[in-house]
Amino acid sequence: MVETITSSREAILLEDKYGAHNYHPIPVVLNKGEGVFLWDVEGKRYYDFLSAYSAVNQGHCHIRIINALIHQAKELTLTSRAFYNDKLGVAEKYVCETFGYDKALFMNSGAEANETAIKLARKWGYTKKGIPDNEAVIVAVKKNFHGRTTTIISASTDPSARKHFGPFMPGFEIVDYDNVPALEKALANPNVCGLWIEPIQGEAGVYVPAEGYLKSAEQLCKKHHVLLMMDEIQTGIARTGKMLASDHEDVKPDMLILGKALSGGVLPISVVLCNDDIMMVIKPGEHGSTFGGNPMAAAVCMEALQVVKDEKLAENADRLGKVFRQRMQAFMQKTNLVTLVRGKGLLNAIMINDTPESETAWNICMKFAENGLLAKPTHGNIIRLAPPLVITEEQIHECCDIIEKSILSFSK
Ligand code: PLP
Repeated sequence: MVETITSSREAILLEDKYGAHNYHPIPVVLNKGEGVFLWDVEGKRYYDFLSAYSAVNQGHCHIRIINALIHQAKELTLTSRAFYNDKLGVAEKYVCETFGYDKALFMNSGAEANETAIKLARKWGYTKKGIPDNEAVIVAVKKNFHGRTTTIISASTDPSARKHFGPFMPGFEIVDYDNVPALEKALANPNVCGLWIEPIQGEAGVYVPAEGYLKSAEQLCKKHHVLLMMDEIQTGIARTGKMLASDHEDVKPDMLILGKALSGGVLPISVVLCNDDIMMVIKPGEHGSTFGGNPMAAAVCMEALQVVKDEKLAENADRLGKVFRQRMQAFMQKTNLVTLVRGKGLLNAIMINDTPESETAWNICMKFAENGLLAKPTHGNIIRLAPPLVITEEQIHECCDIIEKSILSFSK
């Protein structure tokens, strides 16, 4: 018999006792989601201002995506790639046409998609650029976040991601983010096969680079025959007010890496997109995943993307992001606890006026929860604020009221 949870306390105690302590959650226990709302087991309703780290851009349990899931689940769930299935090719065509690439390689988690991109870049480097075997370098940037595998954390500069997890994978050079001269210098190394960046650093605290940085990165990659590997796992699929954050600067990466909202938060689905000259370097047997590109993922991913287009979520994120930042800018005049608001579309963050080690941002998020809004600090004193993109203008104002009231309760 499966136990049922009747109180938040019971669920928290169970996770605490039987689960690994690899997260430090805000103590709310959720059991229902719809659109921009989540409910806890006691029936309290919250606005979701994290959106599962931007995986539920389309809102919780979007009926069209759930129906696509149910329909496909009743027909066929998994065949492995040992055989063809009737959905994968359709989904590959759909994502290639949506984003403008020749080919797609589906995986599951974001980390796996980044691993895929690394393998593609290295193999392209050896077979197309002529880099001597085992000497390929991928340039990454400080404060990046691309996932948790041992290879990915080898390029991380976050001590908590790395400490005691070595030895690390060689072949990465780390430069300052948002620094064009540093890029110019690093990419001139003839052994560099790829530049691996996020167009906005989400986990680092929604750090938006200076306008022109992404364009310069694209031009420098072209100049030095280096692949631009763009991790849009958090920024993509309408989150920043365009389908891709790269679109803000008209940048077309050589490799586009997507995950999270590709499924609307329904299944782990990720994908790498690139053109034939890159994708075809990988031959049968060299890469794959049992679940990657399964028929359920294929069906869900197409519906999730179609919802984004049909409901014009990029336009909504762009418009309401401006409303949100305007409200927060105005609020900054009324409190000395918020020192900065930054972001694009509905990927925003506020900086709390305290040290990164202080508990202030955490306590503010606890107050948000008490007042019916869920968010979580990222890196100490920065609070990311990223609601589902189906939010309305009226709801944004209501949420700004909650945020302001909560923060003001801390002001002396
Ligand atoms: N890349 C970026 C930019 C991310 O924000 C994340 C997750 O937050 C990942 C990669 C890792 O994705 P996953 O947790 O699905 O492995």
